[in-house]
Amino acid sequence: MPDFQKGKIYRLKSKSSGKTYIGSTVQLLRDRLYTHKSKTDSESKIIIEENDYEIELLCDYPCNNLKKLRRKEGEYILKEKELIKELCVNKAIAGRTRKEYRQDHKERLAQETKEYYNKNKSRLQAIQTDSRRNDIITCECCDCEMQKHSLNRHLITAKHKFNLNKI
Ligand SMILES: [Zn+2]
Repeated sequence: MPDFQKGKIYRLKSKSSGKTYIGSTVQLLRDRLYTHKSKTDSESKIIIEENDYEIELLCDYPCNNLKKLRRKEGEYILKEKELIKELCVNKAIAGRTRKEYRQDHKERLAQETKEYYNKNKSRLQAIQTDSRRNDIITCECCDCEMQKHSLNRHLITAKHKFNLNKI
């Protein structure tokens, strides 16, 4: 069981290119550095390969579990990316929740939903045609119910268009 009371955030940095990698660990930094050097498939590989790296302590962060440590690491990654952009080689923001991930990728997710709808439009419409005029249907977009014969009117409402763009 790792001792999270020894939690810390560190920065691995290439002195020549300025590329950085932010990480968290409960190990001594020199031990953690050794793992970076032996693991060749990680994001930090590019820094190790430049062969003039240094590792520095950003803060001690004694805590109780991995989740807290990873969130703290994520805060530092965000700060680093704001400051030096793509020179920070971390790909993901550590410790983010699923909700925060959705926030970050909102536009891409919305685009994917639209593409899905467009690709399956005829199939989706065929399903709708099958049901009878007075059947109650749900607009998945607005999460509201209506009779089938009101659907076409609903699809052109401002409310529906607003919700469609929000997905
Ligand atoms: Zn709707």
